[in-house]
Amino acid sequence: MVRVARTVVVRSVRLPKRVFKVFVELEGMYRNIVEQLVMYAVSNGVRSFTKLKALKYGGVRNLYPQLPTHYIYTACQDASTRVKSFLKLKKEGIAEKEYPEIKNITIWLDDHLWRCDGYTSINIATHKGWITIDIESHKQYWKYVNRGWVLSSEAKVKLNKRNKQLVIYLTFVKDVNKYKHRGFIPIDVNENSLAMLVNGVAYLFETNMKDVVLGYYYRRKRVQKKYDKLYGKRSRIKRKIFKKLKERYRKNDVKLKIANIIVRAAYEKQYAIVLEDLGEKPAESMIKKIKNDQLRHRIFQASFKGIQKAIEKKAKEYGIPIIYVNPKNTSKTCPIHKVKIRYNNNTRIGKCSKGGELWHRDVVACWNLLIKAYLGDGSDAPSLGRSDQNIDGRVMPLPSTAAHDPIVVKKLLWTRWKSLPQTQNATVLNKMKR
Ligand SMILES: [Zn+2]
Repeated sequence: MVRVARTVVVRSVRLPKRVFKVFVELEGMYRNIVEQLVMYAVSNGVRSFTKLKALKYGGVRNLYPQLPTHYIYTACQDASTRVKSFLKLKKEGIAEKEYPEIKNITIWLDDHLWRCDGYTSINIATHKGWITIDIESHKQYWKYVNRGWVLSSEAKVKLNKRNKQLVIYLTFVKDVNKYKHRGFIPIDVNENSLAMLVNGVAYLFETNMKDVVLGYYYRRKRVQKKYDKLYGKRSRIKRKIFKKLKERYRKNDVKLKIANIIVRAAYEKQYAIVLEDLGEKPAESMIKKIKNDQLRHRIFQASFKGIQKAIEKKAKEYGIPIIYVNPKNTSKTCPIHKVKIRYNNNTRIGKCSKGGELWHRDVVACWNLLIKAYLGDGSDAPSLGRSDQNIDGRVMPLPSTAAHDPIVVKKLLWTRWKSLPQTQNATVLNKMKR
C-alpha cells in the first residue's frame, strides 16, 4: 500500500472588505510570530520543531491571546522548516545574510484551524471566530473529490490582496494498492519519439522533444540577453516573461500527455510498464549521435528522465508496477534470431544479419525490453525462469518475421487523445501509417 498525495489549489470567491480585513490581520499576526520564531531559532541554533514549540509557545501565547492557539503550533512548524533550510544553505556557504528573509507568507493550517463545509465552502478559525469561505471549485478539484481521494488535514492559505481572495492549497491523499500485473508495456524513449508496444502492436509517438526542449532553451536565452541589457540582471519584467514562457512550455508539455496515454493503456489491461534503467548516466548511447555538446547533453538527460518521472508519478497513482531493465544493446539484437541487426548509416530501419527481415530500431528496442522483463532481468521483476513463454499464466507474444513497422502517430493527433484508441486498425491510425 502506497500513500499518494497531490496538492490542489482552489480560490475563494472575492471576499467582502470586512471579511478580507480579518484575514489581513491574521496574516500580519502570523507573520510576526514566524519572524520572531525564526530570529530566535537561528540565533539559538534551534532546529527542531518540538524544541522550538517547547521554548516559545508560552511567550507567544501571551502576546496573542485572541489568536486560536493552533496557529502557534503551525507557525512553529513553518518557522522550523524555514530555519532548517536556511541553516543548510548557511553551512554550504550559499546564504549571505545573518537571518533568512521572510518575504512570502503562507498561513499553515492544521485540523483545528479549518474544516470542510460541504464541498464548496470551508470554515477557517480566526481571532474573530470561525469564518465560512465559499470556494470556486473547478474541474480538477471535482476529479479528486469524485475519484475517492480524501482531503488531508493540512492546508495552507495565501492572501491575494489585489482580488481580495484567499488562495487555498489543499492536499488530497489516496492509498493505492499495486496490482499484480498480467503483462507488460515496454517504453522506449528517443530524442524525437517514444515507442510503446501493446500486445504485439508497436506505436511510435512523435514527440519532437528535441525541437521543443531546445526551442524553449534558446528562447529563454534570448530573453535573458535582451533584458539583462535593458533592465539589469534582476529585473521584474524579465522574471515575468520567464514565468509566462514557462507556463506556455508546461501547457504544451508533451511528457504529461504521453504519460497519461501510457498509464491508461497499462491500467486498462492491468499490465506493468517497462522502462529503461537509465541509471546515473542516462541516455548516453542515445546522445552519441548528436554532436558531443555539453549543453545538449544536459538538456536531453533532463528530458529523458523527465518523461520517465512523469510516467512514474502517474503510474503510482493507479498502482501500476514499473519494471526497470538494463537498456544495453536493446536496439542492436534481433529479438527473434538473437543476432546483430545492421543499420545503414543513421537510418532507423535495420536488417537482421541472420533472417534478413527488416526492423524499425525503436520496435526492436521495445521487443527486447519486453523479453528482458519476461526473463526477470529487471530490478523490480520477480525471477520468472528462463525461456519460458508461458509464465504465470501470462503468454509472451512473440514478434513475427514480417516487416516490423510501428504505427506512427503524429504529435498533432495524439496530443488530443486521452487514451489509446480501442481498435488499432481504426481508420484514423491507418492514415497515419507511413
Ligand atoms: Zn532476425
